[in-house]
Amino acid sequence: MKKPGFETRAVHSGREDLAGLGVHAPPIDLSTTYPVGSMGGIGECFDALAQGGPLRDNPIYARLHNPTVVRFEKALAALEGAEEAVAFASGMAALTAVLLAARQGGKHVVACRPVYGGTDHLLDSGLLGVEVTWTHPHHVSRALRPDTALVVVETPANPTLALIDIARVVAQAGEVPVLVDSTFATPVLQNPLALGASLVLHSATKFLGGHGDVMGGVVATNAGWAARLRQVRIATGGVLHPEAGYMLHRGLATLPVRVRESQRGAMFLAKRLASHPAVSRTWYPGLPGGDAEGLLGRQMRGPGCLLSFEVVGGAKAAAQVMERVELLTPAVSLGSVDSLIQHPASLTHRVVDEKLREASGISAGMLRVSVGLESPEDLWADLQRALEGVRLLGHGGGEGSEKSRCPSGDAVLVG
Ligand SMILES: *Cc1c(COP(=O)(O)O)cnc(C)c1O
Repeated sequence: MKKPGFETRAVHSGREDLAGLGVHAPPIDLSTTYPVGSMGGIGECFDALAQGGPLRDNPIYARLHNPTVVRFEKALAALEGAEEAVAFASGMAALTAVLLAARQGGKHVVACRPVYGGTDHLLDSGLLGVEVTWTHPHHVSRALRPDTALVVVETPANPTLALIDIARVVAQAGEVPVLVDSTFATPVLQNPLALGASLVLHSATKFLGGHGDVMGGVVATNAGWAARLRQVRIATGGVLHPEAGYMLHRGLATLPVRVRESQRGAMFLAKRLASHPAVSRTWYPGLPGGDAEGLLGRQMRGPGCLLSFEVVGGAKAAAQVMERVELLTPAVSLGSVDSLIQHPASLTHRVVDEKLREASGISAGMLRVSVGLESPEDLWADLQRALEGVRLLGHGGGEGSEKSRCPSGDAVLVG
């Protein structure tokens, strides 16, 4: 049979066993432990799971295996064209597991800024004993060392929406595996494994769940990496709850429709923002100049559902817009059915050193919008009204670098 199309896989993957069970919706298995029955073979069963291998017969304990979570993993793997996927309690738990599993190959990681603020912090803090070299995506090969175990990139990048040429990074990395954080693209718009990446990571909290009510993370990869990731997950315990697994699996069915519709709204808003007098800059891959390396169509199937823009008047003006919107919700995170607006310099990227932040293009007046499924016209009316206040503030006020009052030592690691 011909390989089913993406939309068909989104609806049907991970449900192969349901007809046999005589049910239509996947059951949620909440067991923390499973009766062992006969003791014959249970030891081997345990050993196989603990080494990250497949389920033999008995799941034994919920930290080792959960059938509801496995359905989500199978479905996500089908959408990424991966052999397997491994789900975690959050995107950061997923990244932690990758970094720990990669340590077998050395302690050095090469990464490209900007990345998600929490990723930046986890890598830069050395918390997991990782040594990081930050470099430009074109200079990855120069940054490699004999003990480099992993290259980490995020595309589209957060919050500048810059696109990185995945195939080019893979070519430069040579034997070193490349991890792509593809949270912003979703499997609808991009499949990094097909471009040679070894691992693709999603904060499932965002588009995969899609309704702002479930937290999770997932890594799609080959069977060897998947076994190592499960081994780390069993050892460190960052498991996805089965109810979250159910909700994420359900979210995948509507993912293609949600992403395409939000993308349509994002294109509409990006064009209007780009020509608004109170907006000094707009970042969106679908705008002229937004895709410097010509990756749309080649690497990404569309420009996506996020955009950023810089308001004239810096941090103060940006704060005003955040306070004046009524339909958009001023909040971190992204990928929900409703639109969210946030200020990267003081929220998602506040843990990043101010100089590095500005060097990677995150200015004080920048706002990031995650476009949801509302009527684009209504969203534009809301933004336009909020920007009207900025114009009244007058140009050139409050020049960028105004510091937020939160003590900068308190890391706020949010998306
Ligand atoms: C949110 C986010 C993460 C972290 O995921 P959590 O589910 O919040 O732990 C990682 N990468 C990107 C790009 C994100 O947006």
